[in-house]
Amino acid sequence: MFYKRFCRPQIIMKSIEGKRMHGLAERLFNICRSITGNGVRQTLDILREFIPLTVHEVPSGIRVFDWEIPKEWNIKSAWILDSKGNTIIDFANNNLHVVGYSTSVDTQVPLLELQEHLYSIPEHPDAIPYVTSYYKEQWGFCIADRARKNLKEDTYHVNINSELKNGSLTYGELILPGKSEKEVLLSTYICHPSMANDNLSGLVVTTELANWLMSTPRRYTYRIIFIPETIGSLAYLSRNLDAMKKNIVAGFNITCVGDDREYSYLPSRNGNTRADRVALRVLKKRHPSFVRHSFLDRGSDERQYCSPGIDLPVVSVMRSKYGTYPEYHTSLDNLQFITPSGLQGSFDVLKECIEWIEHNHAYRAVYLGEPQLGKRGLYPVISRRGNIGIDIELLQNVLAYANGEYDIPAMAEIFNASESDVEKAVESLLKAGLVIDS
Ligand code: ZN
Repeated sequence: MFYKRFCRPQIIMKSIEGKRMHGLAERLFNICRSITGNGVRQTLDILREFIPLTVHEVPSGIRVFDWEIPKEWNIKSAWILDSKGNTIIDFANNNLHVVGYSTSVDTQVPLLELQEHLYSIPEHPDAIPYVTSYYKEQWGFCIADRARKNLKEDTYHVNINSELKNGSLTYGELILPGKSEKEVLLSTYICHPSMANDNLSGLVVTTELANWLMSTPRRYTYRIIFIPETIGSLAYLSRNLDAMKKNIVAGFNITCVGDDREYSYLPSRNGNTRADRVALRVLKKRHPSFVRHSFLDRGSDERQYCSPGIDLPVVSVMRSKYGTYPEYHTSLDNLQFITPSGLQGSFDVLKECIEWIEHNHAYRAVYLGEPQLGKRGLYPVISRRGNIGIDIELLQNVLAYANGEYDIPAMAEIFNASESDVEKAVESLLKAGLVIDS
């Protein structure tokens, strides 16, 4: 049967995947990732134990649209000592202590000068903030505000042993072929150091989804990418845009999927793509109290995927959205903030979105303009409403929405018709060769 109404009998609360995902997050947590560098490579190497990622390197200086791949940054150590040799800050204890992309420094500075290079959050006195400076060469340290307030007048020895040089930007890619060349995109970013919801949760849920997809029959081809945020998605798009525009039918930017708070949804700019409709359908059914954001609240790679001229059908289904939770971009976004059940819930929702796309086909009209139903015996023999047979209006409505975007449940909702009636209309049109499975 070409259309299988999808139901998911097992809502059994198992969290085998959740525990496995949390375990993987624990393993990856302390690696110092950035938009380039060995932390990204090390992370991809670990993910390759689970899924056969291809690792790509894009050299520094290469232009990607209006941007340029930056120099590669690596760091060995960083610390601050007071004049008695006491350690004030040590990067070895938490890699958030150093501003990402800090240049090397080895100097003695008075407190006043040191303060110019310190970052803290007075509203969260025990949190170390996450700060980066990718595109301006400088150095800095991040510190809990309470510790900062305890600093005494003194001369401090500051040392950062880092390297900023021409190298490359690294990303991972896995293409899982399906029966169709049409694709579903799963994209997650891989550039944050020790924080869990943003963005380790995205890495581990995407890995788990890839693992599941590898073991399941696939109608669609899956393009699964692990990229640095913004510059990585721009680099990836600049290399793959034609194929992506031609083939992608739905996409998910996977981020902030690990905590136990409410689910949330951020639409594509279009707001009415297949990915949008599927995400909304699954969330309304499974988690009706989800938070619905506007595209104006965007802040991740949908900024690139949905920009003019690119216009891919990409949405985000999240738990606590980036920028909205107090732990965001601080050391409080840690392995306790994400949980096996939080990860499991997100995995289940995204898996169900993919299953919907796999099982609920969309259709495409063969002819431009309305086809002539009469000469195919469809018009005269069809009864009007209330009689046996298919409603002519329903046939015409299906044809009007057969642009490769709408599946049977979506059409039934728009037409205010039953799914079985729409299914019958689709069957007739398929038989008459007037629509094709898209
Ligand atoms: Zn972030």
